[in-house]
Amino acid sequence: MSEFDYDLFVIGAGSGGVRAARMAAGFGARVAIAEDRYMGGTCVNVGCVPKKLYVYASEFGKSFEDSRGFGWSGTGPSFNWPTLRDNKKAEISRLNGVYRTLLANAGADLFDGRARIVDPHTVHVAGRSISAQKLLIATGGWPYIPEFPGSDLAITSNEIFDLEEFPSRLVIVGGGYIAVEFAGIFNGLGASVTQLYRGSLFLRGFDQDIREHAAREIPKSGVDLRFECNVAAIREQESLIVELTDGSMLEADCVLFATGRKPNLDGLGLEHTQVTLDEYGAIAVDDEYRSSEPSVFALGDVTGGMELTPVALAEGMAFARRQFGQPNQPVDYDFVPTAVFCQPNIGTVGFTEQEAREAFGSVTVYKSTFRPMKHTLSGRDEQTLMKLIVDTDSDRVIGLHMMGPDAGEITQGMAVAMRAGATKAIFDSTIGIHPTAAEEFVTMREAWTGD
Ligand code: FAD
Repeated sequence: MSEFDYDLFVIGAGSGGVRAARMAAGFGARVAIAEDRYMGGTCVNVGCVPKKLYVYASEFGKSFEDSRGFGWSGTGPSFNWPTLRDNKKAEISRLNGVYRTLLANAGADLFDGRARIVDPHTVHVAGRSISAQKLLIATGGWPYIPEFPGSDLAITSNEIFDLEEFPSRLVIVGGGYIAVEFAGIFNGLGASVTQLYRGSLFLRGFDQDIREHAAREIPKSGVDLRFECNVAAIREQESLIVELTDGSMLEADCVLFATGRKPNLDGLGLEHTQVTLDEYGAIAVDDEYRSSEPSVFALGDVTGGMELTPVALAEGMAFARRQFGQPNQPVDYDFVPTAVFCQPNIGTVGFTEQEAREAFGSVTVYKSTFRPMKHTLSGRDEQTLMKLIVDTDSDRVIGLHMMGPDAGEITQGMAVAMRAGATKAIFDSTIGIHPTAAEEFVTMREAWTGD
């Protein structure tokens, strides 16, 4: 008979926590999990899933416009925000139920409530004190708004999905992928969108060509994109008056701050453990996700890192296998593909050109910019950019970047080839699918010489 109530207590039923709990229970561990807000975590409730549904919603208007060159005519239909919002809510409620069932079927006990660690083996939740041999912190991240006059009038990605009224004039502050995606969504749904970024170019961390290309393409769809500009203050009158750092003013119905996320550690009780944080305030763990307190583990967004759902899932699986199943390889973080669901999408995997030059010395770059075939008839002024980066010595393709329709879908497939170590010669010997944009990746013959 174990001295503990459970073998594993997971705090947070998001992407990483649910996967770890289900798998550990599948290996025969006695598992409990606590969730204080919403089953499925950020991704299901205020992240990937509702965002992608809204991205789909935002693309219909553009399709109606584009159809005219293909012979369609008539007035376009109108958009109704409550219908989208409430249909989204219903779908998310369905998914919340699916997550509950998945955990129950796996045999994990669910506690509804905010968990607080009281010692390295004990958690307080829902009025109970529960002990476990191992604690897993999978509490994710939380959006962060810097302090400035009127900052309490701004909202975050947590609130934007369920606004009562559609924000016809929206100011978005931030230059990361979340800010860019919401700019595309609300612009596509018909709002007048101004996106502000305090630096000289947004999408830090992406390939420079992609960043510059996105800065040219996104305003074409109507987003008023302003760099080196920030919010100084917000005042509430009939609408919101947004004072900018360049002295100008904007009137808005809503101001969204997408300026970063912090590890969600509030009230977690870490002071009752030896858990240490890294320089960014995330829980420091080793490659088995063990913190500096031997019985306490952490994974997913709360540990910093890549902050992507598939990464949290992979970590959850690796943790469960390592602690309760077969010893296994740690998660390999090389060549993790990712997408920005702006219009058109950005897809990226592997090294940026700048990183590759530092890591490999000699690299060969292939680039192609073209108008997507669809827009020859739609008349839309949109350019696709595709780029390959090759390690000149080994011929291995080490970076692949694209901004164009379906870039997310295309990049996922390319990532498999790149993880398998595909060389440029293998890309070249692959027959294309014609006519697609993706075939460009296997027909890039001329190295970019900088002209
Ligand atoms: P989470 O999913 O955040 O789960 C943490 C859970 O813990 C939450 O449910 C929270 O309520 C709960 N919790 C916290 N503290 C406690 C406590 N003390 N007691 C009980 N429960 C607690 N990733 C992608 O891969 N693709 C995308 O397209 C994408 N889009 C995104 C869009 C937005 C707007 C945002 C914000 C994020 C997006 N992400 C995307 C990131 C993705 O959502 C996260 O990387 C992922 O959810 C992290 O999983 P997690 O398990 O670490 O934490």
